Amino acid sequence: MRILLMGAPGSGKGTQAGFIAQKAKVSSVSSGDLFRKNLSEKSELGILAKTFMDRGEYVPDDVTIRMVLDWINDPSNTSGFVLDGFPRTLPQAIALDEELGSVDKVIFFDVPNNDLIERLSGRLICRTCQASFHKIFYPSKNGMICDKCPDELYQRDDDKADVVTNRLKVYMQETQPVIQYYAKQNKLITVDGSKSVDEVESELEMALND
Ligand code: AMP
Repeated sequence: MRILLMGAPGSGKGTQAGFIAQKAKVSSVSSGDLFRKNLSEKSELGILAKTFMDRGEYVPDDVTIRMVLDWINDPSNTSGFVLDGFPRTLPQAIALDEELGSVDKVIFFDVPNNDLIERLSGRLICRTCQASFHKIFYPSKNGMICDKCPDELYQRDDDKADVVTNRLKVYMQETQPVIQYYAKQNKLITVDGSKSVDEVESELEMALND
């Protein structure tokens, strides 16, 4: 099973990726996490990606496509996967189709813009397991410590207000056409991402069983 998760920053893709991967019995990866991992290791790729991430822009297609296809072609991932945050541009979607033939399901998390800004400004991430929380809507039981592993939570630099505005603009320009691309292929499953985490999970469970 090859599943793609699409939606604006803050639409809940990352929160649900683990649940979907567990139901589909495959591994999951987030392209943003791959960039952040490279950055924490101070690799050339990570340092390059940071210049784009800090401005809320997309990392160039050639670099992003190579990084994600390397992950897909790793023997532990070839039987299937959940991809969170890739593809985000038409060239990325075309490169993925050329590599794989096609994908099975594309899940689109639909959330109104006002909710996205509110969610991103309160979002907290675990430094170790990358689990995502929200200061008000989905707090960790242990305050600023992750309740899935014992590391601290932090606010991503690109979740700060000035960068968020640009991320949403880039998403509208570059990624909306990708959603249409999969709608035309009849692959798109739209879930109401404005609902609670549990309600979205129930909607996803039904979508995955179809
Ligand atoms: P995310 O964690 O998904 O919000 O991604 C964080 C940042 O990583 C984005 O704002 C982009 O700068 C970069 N990024 C992640 N995925 C992609 C992608 N598919 N194409 C280009 N840039 C990406």
